[in-house]
Amino acid sequence: MGTVGAFMRRVALLLTCLTMGFAPAMAAPCPGNPNALGTARTITVEQTAFPRIGTVQYRNTLPLNDREVVITFDDGPLPPYTTRVLDALARECVQATFFLVGRMATAHPELVRRIYNAGHVIGTHSQNHPLTFDQMELPRVEREVTAGIASVQAAAGNPKAVAPFFRIPGLARTRQVEAYLASKSLSVWSADEVADDWFRDVTASDIVRKAIERIEGRGRGVLLLHDIHPATAMAVPVLLRELKKRGFKVVHAIPAGERPRSVPELDTPVADSGSWPRVVKASAPAVAQTATLPRLPAARPDAARSPLTTRTTTVSAARKQSYPTGTTTSHTTNRRTATAAPSRTQTVVQRRTWTTSWPRQTRYSYWR
Ligand SMILES: [Zn+2]
Repeated sequence: MGTVGAFMRRVALLLTCLTMGFAPAMAAPCPGNPNALGTARTITVEQTAFPRIGTVQYRNTLPLNDREVVITFDDGPLPPYTTRVLDALARECVQATFFLVGRMATAHPELVRRIYNAGHVIGTHSQNHPLTFDQMELPRVEREVTAGIASVQAAAGNPKAVAPFFRIPGLARTRQVEAYLASKSLSVWSADEVADDWFRDVTASDIVRKAIERIEGRGRGVLLLHDIHPATAMAVPVLLRELKKRGFKVVHAIPAGERPRSVPELDTPVADSGSWPRVVKASAPAVAQTATLPRLPAARPDAARSPLTTRTTTVSAARKQSYPTGTTTSHTTNRRTATAAPSRTQTVVQRRTWTTSWPRQTRYSYWR
């Protein structure tokens, strides 16, 4: 009788799950990784039910159970960091949501398609990532939003591959902006937890610590990360293992309606095909877990105008670090620009030697 009772309970639970529109937690095994974090279940996000998401700014968020997280990434795609993040997610069979910047997508369409074909959801994050959505006239907001969507759709090769999910750059919301986004049937995504991974000088271990502290604090939530930063790329594999260790489950939030199964792939440009950082000689195992990334050199007043030049900065006598050829940073009160030129350089981190290759000139700016 006990067995039959247990069976009936399982059937009842399954029916409850189905009637509530949730897929039951039946994660498929992860090839090559029996201990993978995995993706426990999927929830469908309709704009009418979820016009605004994330307790950092709103009263409402996704209907997550205790110890459930939704993982989101902003500002990409940018090789080689997005590539590293995708590798880490694939190893753990975790599905995430990527809010892509239009001009980044135009520059790296092959990565946009890789993100989609790996089963992740693609939302948008404006065309140029201006940090003044709360100050701009509405026509400019409209241009940023629609151009961003058009660029990401074109890069994806199929407009239906792009979800009606939008994250406002810098989370600079206003009622007017939200009303406009609602009129376009876009769900506005804020977050429940951030990990401060856009801060200057943040390390991978800082990101993991802050993310875990804040997720543990709320017990669940939508986590916001940025796949364009080296420290975040380093943090993600560690963070996923830490979530698994603590019994968290990943939920994948998908848009309503039909989506293409896949989009045609594009060849990866030769310059981008190398992984980063490639370990050429490691003095101890578990490199990714313990490594600290080199900090970017301090801002110089003329950095924004200076031509790309070779630049090596010694951080301390005890720990020598070098930076990729052409790395410059400029820093004003709320914005930093980093520029990297094609180069190869050696980086020594905690007595381990890595070859770090910067695939080609990339330029991005972000707020802090
Ligand atoms: Zn952003």
